[in-house]
Amino acid sequence: MDFSSVDRTIADLETCLKTTREVSPTEELLVGVDLGTAFIVLVVMNSKKEPVACAMEFAQVIKDGLVVDYIGAMTVVKRLKAQLEERLGRELERAAIAVPPGTGESDCKTHGYVVEGAGMEVTNLLDEPTAANAVLGVEDGVIVDIGGGTTGLSILEKGKVVYVADEATGGTHLSLVLSGAYKVSFEEAEEIKRDYGRHKEIFAAVRPVIQKMATIVKGHIKGRNIKSVYLVGGTCCLTGMETVFEKELGIPVHKPANPFLVTPMGIALSS
Ligand code: ATP
Repeated sequence: MDFSSVDRTIADLETCLKTTREVSPTEELLVGVDLGTAFIVLVVMNSKKEPVACAMEFAQVIKDGLVVDYIGAMTVVKRLKAQLEERLGRELERAAIAVPPGTGESDCKTHGYVVEGAGMEVTNLLDEPTAANAVLGVEDGVIVDIGGGTTGLSILEKGKVVYVADEATGGTHLSLVLSGAYKVSFEEAEEIKRDYGRHKEIFAAVRPVIQKMATIVKGHIKGRNIKSVYLVGGTCCLTGMETVFEKELGIPVHKPANPFLVTPMGIALSS
């Protein structure tokens, strides 16, 4: 699969963390809210499906896909919404949201209440790997979304999701391992992990956890004729993740240049 156009659009979206593309006062805007274990991200796209603005904040208000601090989550979404409205000179009225695969109905509702409480009507609720596929456009294969708390996966056949799963191992677990290995706080371990310059150095310490993530995926795709795997989610930014997966699964593994913003963008595209 050629990721060059995906990579270009994601790079464009990354730019929109700092810059804002002009929008007309009447243009329809697509808004996505990603309530993650590690980050809350708001993405705004224009009617041509081009990124126009993006804002994010590190927040520990969601755990394994569940809202554990409702007021905290709502406050962050409100703050990010206000920032983007100020930058765009427009009110953001509607948004799509996504949850990890298999999230129960009442927890889905809570995600919705957070966004509604922040002043936006929820237009769509989808699972995270399906949102990612709005960007990737995978017809056959498995999308693996590794965020802060969980490893989620969606198996696609002829463009349709036929199986979803989500298990509790994500980037937070890598940071906990690093915190122990380097004898630093969790926050410092997060910083070290997100530093691309240190990925090579930390790889041996975090490899067993990555191996576990690959084993989770292997268990779920067992007995199916899967020909390709696509890695998304912030944790997949880790350099070399794909080689561990490829070795464990024995299937070609693809990763866009920046897997972090794929799902948030897909949520906006699905609004
Ligand atoms: P979840 O999907 O589990 O609810 P989330 O939506 O917050 O969580 P993402 O935003 O996709 O998940 O990813 C967050 C994780 O990605 C965090 O653990 C963060 O430390 C990690 N991460 C972000 N950037 C990098 C990087 N450059 N290198 C390694 N890990 C990274």
